[in-house]
Amino acid sequence: MRYVSTRGNAPVLSFEEAMLTGLARDGGLYVPETIPAFTPEEIAALAGLSYEEAAFRVMRPFTGDAFTDEEFRGIIARAYDGFGHAARAPLVQLGPNHFLCELFHGPTLAFKDFAMQLIGQMFETALKRRGDRVTIVGATSGDTGSAAIEAFGGLDAVDVFIMYPHGRVSEVQRRQMTTPAAANVHALAIEGDFDDCQARLKDMFNHFEFRDRVRLAGVNSINWARVLAQVVYYFTSAVALGAPARKVSFTVPTGNFGDIFAGYIAKRMGLPIDRLVIATNQNDILHRTIATGAHRKTGVTPSISPSMDIQVSSNFERALFDAYDRDGAAVARLMEELASEGGFEVSQGVLARLRDIFASGRADEEETAAQIAATYAATGEVLCPHSAVGVKVAGEHLDPAVPMITLATAHPAKFPDAVEAAIGMRPPLPKRMADLYDRSERVLPVANDLAVLEETIEGLIFA
Ligand SMILES: *Cc1c(COP(=O)(O)O)cnc(C)c1O
Repeated sequence: MRYVSTRGNAPVLSFEEAMLTGLARDGGLYVPETIPAFTPEEIAALAGLSYEEAAFRVMRPFTGDAFTDEEFRGIIARAYDGFGHAARAPLVQLGPNHFLCELFHGPTLAFKDFAMQLIGQMFETALKRRGDRVTIVGATSGDTGSAAIEAFGGLDAVDVFIMYPHGRVSEVQRRQMTTPAAANVHALAIEGDFDDCQARLKDMFNHFEFRDRVRLAGVNSINWARVLAQVVYYFTSAVALGAPARKVSFTVPTGNFGDIFAGYIAKRMGLPIDRLVIATNQNDILHRTIATGAHRKTGVTPSISPSMDIQVSSNFERALFDAYDRDGAAVARLMEELASEGGFEVSQGVLARLRDIFASGRADEEETAAQIAATYAATGEVLCPHSAVGVKVAGEHLDPAVPMITLATAHPAKFPDAVEAAIGMRPPLPKRMADLYDRSERVLPVANDLAVLEETIEGLIFA
């Protein structure tokens, strides 16, 4: 299995190389050269398996010769061992034909743990074999950073730096990033918003001297291995509800298009997904794109679902690559226009293709809070604000003939203020992290400036 860049102008890489590289050298994102297809029999055979065994079968065709089967089974077992639920991604029913897939039972209470725990183990295995060491730099709107720090803390062959927007993450998110004691992990509080963090990360990857000197590696949702890890729960949840004999639909709260792109891959692999519904908060560039064909940045407006407060939706580039028949030059032109003009318009043909696969909707702040209250009243399930955005939008796309699965992306205790404002009750942290508020923090504020950031990172690595 080989990986190519969405901008068509970077070296073709193996799975392991693409994983360790992150962003391609032409500024594009790596995607598999071909998407392996599963037969209905292979999909049906996933029924009843452990999450780990299903994960092995779904991901194995993508990893090439990176790991032996035994190594890969060990990686998966270690990745999901620390989850607080035996099913890993359990389903609960919200109403007639509407299900919630709970993706918040990992160590940092958000779905990011599914991918980050896996690639932590993959990096460790690959780097140890190579006798190599890398510097991981990531940008986070909150949940990626804590998941990465949790997954990579204490590993031998990596230093980890996570940039988060100062003052714009929840207290639980911040504490999950600033309290781990491992010496190889550092949270950097950037004076800016998430798009600034993401832009500085891209700048670092495009500064080849720095990139080579520190052996920079990325674990943002642009990393193909993360997308791959997220494909698994589409299969396990669809099969639990009767796939491949029965179609299912998914609604996915998204900002960076990472999680929903994994659903798109599952569909391309043969999983009978009827609709993939994009659910955004008031930062709705993706919803506007599907509604109008114009992909245009506006400012980021902070919301009660901060992990989706994004206007630069990195992974959307991967969907565009396919929608443009894998024409890397066309994608590169669109991305240049996005950078210089703040947006672009897709052709009518491309818009039709996108709408063939994706539907969309948005929830504003009041609608999000109202959905938390309504779901609690109707079912007793307490939603985090991101999941509530999903449930609200899913409600507009229910079809009595096709089960709808909404992805619940975080535990409500990660966003206690928003939840308390909606239902008058503060959701408690699970027992295993009940002392989070008592642990001491290390906060390191840094200017939103490439040179200052690079100096800070090198200072800490080579200290
Ligand atoms: C990261 C995150 C999202 C958005 O994920 P995408 O990568 O943008 O699809 C949604 N909800 C929560 C809780 C998150 O942490």
